[in-house]
Amino acid sequence: AEDTGTTGQPAGPDRSGAHTDVRSEVARRRTFAVIAHPDAGKSTLTEALALHARVITEAGAVHGKSGRRATVSDWMEMEKARGISVSSTALQFTYKPAGAPDDDEPYVINLVDTPGHSDFSEDTYRVLTAVDAAVMLIDAAKGLEPQTLKLFRVCKHNGLPIITVINKWDRPGQAPLELLDEITEQIGLVPTPLFMPVGIAGDYRGLLRRGPEGAPEEYIHFTRTAGGSTIAPEEHYDPAAAAEREGEVWETAVEESELLSAMGQDHDQELYLAGETSPVIFASAMLNFGVHQILDALVELAPPPHAWDTVTGAPRETSDPFSAVVFKVQAGMDAAHRDRLAFMRVVSGEFERGMVVTHAQSAKPFTTKYALTVFGRDRTTVETAYPGDVVGLVNATALAPGDTLYTGKKVQFPPIPQFAPEHFAVVRAHSLGKYKQFRKAIDQLAAEGVVQILRNDTRGDANPVMAAVGPMQFEVVTARMKTEFNVEVVVDNLPYSIARRTDAASADELGRQRGVEVFQRTDGELLALFGDKWRLQYISKEMDHLTIEPLVADT
Ligand code: GDP
Repeated sequence: AEDTGTTGQPAGPDRSGAHTDVRSEVARRRTFAVIAHPDAGKSTLTEALALHARVITEAGAVHGKSGRRATVSDWMEMEKARGISVSSTALQFTYKPAGAPDDDEPYVINLVDTPGHSDFSEDTYRVLTAVDAAVMLIDAAKGLEPQTLKLFRVCKHNGLPIITVINKWDRPGQAPLELLDEITEQIGLVPTPLFMPVGIAGDYRGLLRRGPEGAPEEYIHFTRTAGGSTIAPEEHYDPAAAAEREGEVWETAVEESELLSAMGQDHDQELYLAGETSPVIFASAMLNFGVHQILDALVELAPPPHAWDTVTGAPRETSDPFSAVVFKVQAGMDAAHRDRLAFMRVVSGEFERGMVVTHAQSAKPFTTKYALTVFGRDRTTVETAYPGDVVGLVNATALAPGDTLYTGKKVQFPPIPQFAPEHFAVVRAHSLGKYKQFRKAIDQLAAEGVVQILRNDTRGDANPVMAAVGPMQFEVVTARMKTEFNVEVVVDNLPYSIARRTDAASADELGRQRGVEVFQRTDGELLALFGDKWRLQYISKEMDHLTIEPLVADT
């Protein structure tokens, strides 16, 4: 890659040497995450997307074990035992839309995986700070579900444009217009379908491509393959032939399409990028229907990587020298690889394995000798990466979520907000003799963001309080304490459910109130914990001279 700028073969109209190369790499990248309530079909869709991109040849076959159809995205013991994804990584694949000129470079798509279980939503929030777009996956029978709503709000907060996929159209479900109304009414996002489904939910025949004023442009008919394990063949018909073939269900789709246009529900690129509208695709991840249309929408509509804000306010342009943000730290991902990985998203410039970068938080150099892409059990060495790409750095013990890596002039990105915890428990070493290991382990797990750690003088250093968005985070701490640090811990749940920010001036008086306890979090923030919202309301009202505020990223 280092020759590209000097061999007289610039890839674009720019003449700025090496930057030309980075710019064309940026233009062909899309980095996104899927947000969904558990069971909406996220794993199935991930497999289906990878199948279309031909990363793997048969969905589910990569790590297929007898008895259960294993997907590429689960690996930890805990995940296997519970059938959930605890950690997140990225799947990178290339995709070239049908009909693209032969000499066009394919798009490079980074699908950053998120844990499915709501107990790990803090991880999901961090992932959503590291992507450029989101796909909101909805079950056609269930519509919007609590976790979808929560994650939608995080996307909105982060300014992520959203493509909506209504999944499981091969099964009985709600009427298409009802589902679309639900999106408008519940979250205020205006759905603008790119296609209308032909056939009701449960009788999925194909898609009507919507043209100007909702007029049908073509009919894409899908054919089932055995178990949906290969790409579903498509046949394309013009509208007259579609009417002939499908009769009434085609006419219904045409009417619905025109009705939506009459209400102004047509795709508008600017409104989509502004997060006001959302292109919609009806699909069946299981049968592989509509999946290639999702990929086309991503490459045509979703934004490529863009400049990032820095703490000084000056944006870091994608063509600036290398910089990246760490959004996840993970240890003990696999018994065969007992190491600690920090995942970074490249923000600017070109990354080359082995390059020495600076860690902004410690001002120390960091050598990127071991750089990987990780998805499920697969690990591949990364030689080069560009903005939007996700790279796992091995044994990056000093790196924590939110940290900045860079070359050249110093740059630092704003920290990732810590989310408002709702579960609290005291954790201590079972035997006092293990105190030193315990202390070290707690500090490391807090730095990785596995749980937040709160301390106060009353409880002392030997009895820190773990704070989490979901209680399963505590189980991860207990398990990792034992397997990685050889420390048995005792966990006692505390009867608090709400955290609020306070300040040094209010802390003492607030801490003396019944049912309230004040702590300092490892990031220095002072947190007051309350048993329930009535206690919080009562104290806020009675003592309005005290500082009691929602935490920054309270969603
Ligand atoms: P996740 O929890 O969101 O990752 O959901 P999964 O991908 O594990 O899917 C949950 C269940 O829904 C599984 O039994 C899937 O086989 C099923 N499923 C996923 N997509 C579809 C679909 O398009 N149609 C049908 N009929 N079932 C689906």
